Amino acid sequence: MNLARPALAASVPSPFQALIDGLQEAVWLVDAATHCVVAVNKMSQALLGLPSDQLLGCAIDSLATTPEDALFWMDAAAGGRDGLHTDTMIRHADGRMMWVARRVTHVPQAQGQGLWLIAMQDLTAQRQHDEERETLLAELRATLESTADGILVTDLAGRMRSFNQRFAALWGIPEDLLNERNDEAVQAWMRRSVIDGPAYAMRLASVQESPLLQTSDNIRLIDGRVLERVSLPQWSRGRPIGRVFSFRDLSEKLAANQRIEELSHTDMLSGLPNRRALAERLDYAQAMARRETSPFGLLNVDLDRFKQINDTLGHSYGDRVLKEVALRLKESLREVDTVARLGGDEFALLIHQADARGAEHAARRVQEAMSRPFCFDTLSFTVTCSIGIALFPGDGNSAEELLASAERAMHWVKESGRSAFRFHQPRKDVDLLSRMRLDHAMRQALQEHEFRLHYQPQVALGTGEVIGAEALIRWRDPLRGEVPPSEFIPVAEESGFIVAIGNWVLQQAVQQAAQWRRQGLRIPVAVNVSALQFQQAQFVETVAQALRAADLSPSLLELELTESILLRDAEEALLRLQGLAELGVCMSIDDFGTGYSSLGYLKRFPIQRLKIDKSFVRGLPGDASDAGIVNAIIQMGRALNLKVIAEGVESEAQREFLQRCGCHEYQGYLFAPALEGRAFEERVMRQNKAQVRLLRGGA
Ligand code: C2E
Ligand code: CA
Ligand code: CA
Repeated sequence: MNLARPALAASVPSPFQALIDGLQEAVWLVDAATHCVVAVNKMSQALLGLPSDQLLGCAIDSLATTPEDALFWMDAAAGGRDGLHTDTMIRHADGRMMWVARRVTHVPQAQGQGLWLIAMQDLTAQRQHDEERETLLAELRATLESTADGILVTDLAGRMRSFNQRFAALWGIPEDLLNERNDEAVQAWMRRSVIDGPAYAMRLASVQESPLLQTSDNIRLIDGRVLERVSLPQWSRGRPIGRVFSFRDLSEKLAANQRIEELSHTDMLSGLPNRRALAERLDYAQAMARRETSPFGLLNVDLDRFKQINDTLGHSYGDRVLKEVALRLKESLREVDTVARLGGDEFALLIHQADARGAEHAARRVQEAMSRPFCFDTLSFTVTCSIGIALFPGDGNSAEELLASAERAMHWVKESGRSAFRFHQPRKDVDLLSRMRLDHAMRQALQEHEFRLHYQPQVALGTGEVIGAEALIRWRDPLRGEVPPSEFIPVAEESGFIVAIGNWVLQQAVQQAAQWRRQGLRIPVAVNVSALQFQQAQFVETVAQALRAADLSPSLLELELTESILLRDAEEALLRLQGLAELGVCMSIDDFGTGYSSLGYLKRFPIQRLKIDKSFVRGLPGDASDAGIVNAIIQMGRALNLKVIAEGVESEAQREFLQRCGCHEYQGYLFAPALEGRAFEERVMRQNKAQVRLLRGGA
């Protein structure tokens, strides 16, 4: 340091020296007249690293060189100042500038202009501390602003101390409210933004009353968003001094969760509930059904030959069909019911508060909805479906069991020719083993001639004359006793043995008709034909052979086919039917109404008769729906020039109703059950003779 030193050092009164040496600050005494340093204390040397003798006598303006100093000393010389107290910088002996708090005070003296006392305190440590704190604060602020959460810090009384921009944005707080730091206005704004303002305020108040509480809750805003609010006490020196609230917008997360939940319960292609969602609804339906003792139905709907559509027209086409099917299924049900897609071309319908009748009604509506042709682009085609029905209670005690029952029933429909519906029947021979035993027993029965045919008379409604017979198979097994066809025919259909049985029935029936013919009885015999039997390539030839062998006129043989047989492989079926028609054989549609086929569609087939299924006859004449269906079938049949016969007629009232509607013929227990050949002959003779007598007598 190169300091200008005046030629004469000012002399300092020695009491001052002792005084200033006792001070904690670095002190210089400056002569007010000469502006020269006249005394320095020990602390000065410690602060600035300059020995006292280097300072003594120096001009002050060479030591304190800032513009502020220069100005002060100029003013002081003119007598215009009495002190100065600022932070300033001063040079250390080693050349670095250092911060000091510097106080300049005038010390008057009895003579002369007095002295200036310059006291300096080292600010280096404090400055450093301040700087560190500022950096820290800046860092904190940056962190606060960069978090995705809205942060609000309050004191213990709930007054806002700080917040970040995200907080303002989340709550949509106007800038002027924030700038004003108007606590009450901001709080009011927040209260107004939530759905339940009073509850929000109460909760906040209770949080404030417990400064140590950690809280976490969700707040619903009136704009629909949901904010998660977490609050923690803010600590300082071991004591809570306020509270930090953080807010996070959960709306997206909740929406995403909801979407995930939806997706896991929805079939992507159709938008329908999936198997999982259906299982949940089934569980619920069961609980409700138990409580209210109201039954419900579950329908398994499987499209017939959907694979063909996929294979020939492509998958995207198939998808369009599935979507359309989904739509039609939904339309055919009530709002409360559920349509679910189980996968592939398999759907399930949950029909609430429905017994067998209600479920059947739903099945018919589905078939009706599906019967409308599907038209895409230039293509138009029909899609049929097979429906299995399970009922609760009865067909299962869990969603899984019910689904399995409905599916099993659906498979029975598929096996017996598709395009129909069927209730699940708890089978006595459910297990494979007993089915195999039954199948084996049937094969033996055929060899051992244990099968018999019974004949149920068919009667003209107008004249009461017996005009035909339906051949129905009977089997008495040595072990099992009389086994009903409803039990063994499905097993035979499953194993394929039905073809052999069917051929036996055909030959037997044709021979019986031929024998009656020889006895002078012209009784056409109707034979039930199974799908598998009809599908045999040589079926037409088999029929022709049976007729030739018995030498029977083809007009005395009738084949009972089900709708599903005709709808399966329709073109192929049509060719076969034409072959049979050319033979001169009669054909009827059995169980009419249970499968769904529009009569317009059936018009293409060379068919002579419709047999109204006994399930419709059962409710006659009281049941309005049965009565309507039966009447419609009769009218349509007549319009298409078909003979209409009703089966399962058990009462006079049913017979009368059918006659009134214009039905041509009937069969049923009212007249006679299926009878042995001999018994049938006698019954017919008696009846027809009586009829002849009646007619003659009447004439
Ligand atoms: P299906 O062709 O609908 O036969 C009519 C069924 O109704 C017969 O039962 C008959 O005995 C019964 N039935 C007759 N009158 C009445 C009545 O007034 N009320 C009621 N409730 N029922 C009546 P069955 O003989 O037990 O035959 C059951 C089913 O087995 C038949 O239904 C048919 O699908 C099948 N089936 C019988 N024989 C043969 C056969 O030779 N070949 C084939 N493929 N299937 C047969
Ligand atoms: Ca029949
Ligand atoms: Ca029938």
